[in-house]
Amino acid sequence: NLSDRLDSVFKKLKGHGTLNEKNIEEGLKQVRMALLEADVNYKVAKNVISDIKTRALGQEVMESLTPGQQVIKIVYDEFTRMMGSKHQALDLGTGSSGSIMLVGLQGSGKTTTAGKLGLYLRKQGRTPFLVPVDVYRPAAIDQLKKIGTQLDLPVFDSTPDMKPLKICQDAQIAAREQGCDTLVYDTAGRLHMDDTLMAELETLKKGVSPSEILLVADAMTGQDAVNIAGSFDQRLDLTGVVLTKMDGDARGGAALSIKAVTGKPLKFIGVGEKFTGLEPFHPDRMASKILGMGDTLSFIERAQEAVDEKEAKTLEKKLRQNAFTLEDFRDQMKTVRKMGSVKDILGMLPGMNKKQLKGLNIDEKEFVKIEAIINSMTPEEREKYAIIKASRKKRIAFGSGTTVQDVNKLLKSYTQSMKMIKKFNKGGMRSLKNMLPF
Ligand code: GDP
Ligand code: MG
Repeated sequence: NLSDRLDSVFKKLKGHGTLNEKNIEEGLKQVRMALLEADVNYKVAKNVISDIKTRALGQEVMESLTPGQQVIKIVYDEFTRMMGSKHQALDLGTGSSGSIMLVGLQGSGKTTTAGKLGLYLRKQGRTPFLVPVDVYRPAAIDQLKKIGTQLDLPVFDSTPDMKPLKICQDAQIAAREQGCDTLVYDTAGRLHMDDTLMAELETLKKGVSPSEILLVADAMTGQDAVNIAGSFDQRLDLTGVVLTKMDGDARGGAALSIKAVTGKPLKFIGVGEKFTGLEPFHPDRMASKILGMGDTLSFIERAQEAVDEKEAKTLEKKLRQNAFTLEDFRDQMKTVRKMGSVKDILGMLPGMNKKQLKGLNIDEKEFVKIEAIINSMTPEEREKYAIIKASRKKRIAFGSGTTVQDVNKLLKSYTQSMKMIKKFNKGGMRSLKNMLPF
């Protein structure tokens, strides 16, 4: 992935010099290639490269980071910025009801997204009302009605003989009568951009004044999705975009370019055919994904909630020196408990695979036992677990009211954690410092 590529390009520079025109050339080449591979709009790619270059030039190469990491950070920040920096939430206004109009080409995922949004809105505590407005495709109305039944969401009883605007207006009344506060209009699509469709959507927009008008576009179509977004935006002044089918082999190019090209934020991504497959779009997480940094940010968020800064610094140092004793293990256990299971946390780090995580099952209920066992050890035993042979195990088990098996189990978890840490230090995780938020 890009993150690894940059890191290896810059390896030679570690710890000395500044980033200059010459020594960042190769790195920028890698970024450029990655952007093209991801199918990023070429104009956007050109701008990004020049911005990254400007920001990187003249920077001191920090002792604590590899130059590669330093450039990765700059690229990451730049990607995040170009996708809009922060998640843009739906804006459904302050009134008693809001509405979302979904527009887009046929097959882009509008109807599916209508169902997904219904589910999402209900989870947000709203009461959605789905409105089938596509009177042209024979089965379109039934498709949304079925989805409504499946998800137990109310759907307006449109019929194919009704005019789209009339459907929307009647639906507003029906929604109010049924106590629903958020209308989701599923409009008709065409195979290609066409003027008749645009004119109709303009009429609907005028007549309905939706709080949000979202373009639903298929991420698999790459730059086409970006161009379509541009055309729809020109006519309808979109409030945002939903990119669907991001679970497929979409390469991220559309996600990277949409905001830069249209000025409109990506608000959601579709990540599956199921109705739970809708995620609020987070620029930072997408940047991290494109760079291949793993789910580092979720990790950082959880770590930030649970770990205090000083404690984490000490831990980091110990991990780096492979000096993580049983005592540290016990102390960290408490922190880890606050963050989620060890396996969850490690699983979020880049470079981790499921195989490595196997056997690292620390039952949350065992925490109390673990603490008791470690408390029953002498300081020397906590420092050097290898000296804990049979007779010591017996003594510890007796002292902590547990069994020798329990002691063995604990030692096994501990040595397994140690092994993983050593692996990290060797390479897998290049710098724990970069993973932790301090
Ligand atoms: P519409 O014509 O715009 O209303 O598109 P539909 O909602 O009918 O979706 C077209 C196809 O795309 C259907 O087979 C959906 O299951 C599929 N689809 C929609 N969103 C997603 C998504 O996020 N991921 C995947 N894998 N498939 C999707
Ligand atoms: Mg449809």
